[in-house]
Amino acid sequence: MIFAGCHLSNSAGYVAMVETAKSIGANTCAFFTRNPRGSKAKPEDPADCARAMELLKEYEFGPLVAHGAYTMNLCTAEESARDFAASVLCDDLRRMAYLPGNFYNFHPGSHVGQGTQQGIEYIVKALKKALEPQYPVTVLLESMAGKGSEIGGRFEELKAILDGVGDDSVGVCLDSCHIHDGGYDIVNDLDGVLAEFDRVVGLHRLKALHLNDSKNPYESHKDRHELLGQGHLGTETFRAIVNHPYLKTLPMILETPNELPGYAKEIALLRSMEE
Ligand code: FE
Ligand code: FE
Ligand code: ZN
Repeated sequence: MIFAGCHLSNSAGYVAMVETAKSIGANTCAFFTRNPRGSKAKPEDPADCARAMELLKEYEFGPLVAHGAYTMNLCTAEESARDFAASVLCDDLRRMAYLPGNFYNFHPGSHVGQGTQQGIEYIVKALKKALEPQYPVTVLLESMAGKGSEIGGRFEELKAILDGVGDDSVGVCLDSCHIHDGGYDIVNDLDGVLAEFDRVVGLHRLKALHLNDSKNPYESHKDRHELLGQGHLGTETFRAIVNHPYLKTLPMILETPNELPGYAKEIALLRSMEE
């Protein structure tokens, strides 16, 4: 049985979020740790988190995949803004300790003209500091489409960050729309792309998936998500993913343009494709 879910709101608390996930046939989900387009975060409610952890066990959920704010750019140009982003990352990991054992995924960042090398150095520095307290959370770098000065569009860039951090527990979340737009042909050669990921990064570092179709063609570097089967990836790509011996063990998070009923349908679609 695959772990399939989607992005859900945690604004009514984590118990409510887990119950919503269950009600749409999900057995994992993603949520933003704070306002995705800002930096505000609600204080955590330890009792709600503890009860949610019990429900996750009772309902046999796979790991949740929290998502850092889009505004958190660890390699932005200005030092004070960079320091602020780094402090947001530290605080996110501290808050994730209320939901121990789950995943926290974030966009590595955009170097905004300073160059990939410099950007990677800043990301590594911030991550090393945030990992120091050793909170019980697995941190994941999201693979990006390589839009603008985004870092993480190439497997080599993800690998450089992982090596710089030097902590084996840090992993990767592959986003199907991003890697396709970024120039990895998972439509025609999923096995070849995974072999390349294994060669560069190591398949054991792959801990979660974002499943999105793409509005744009291969290598467009655009990053616009489409409903499953209605974009340039197509249904068969997702069928291959849910039946791949390694990928099918990972939490799969939908970030498609949907409300809850649409997500319920796509989760059911993924489950129906399991052989
Ligand atoms: Fe993302
Ligand atoms: Fe994503
Ligand atoms: Zn995206």
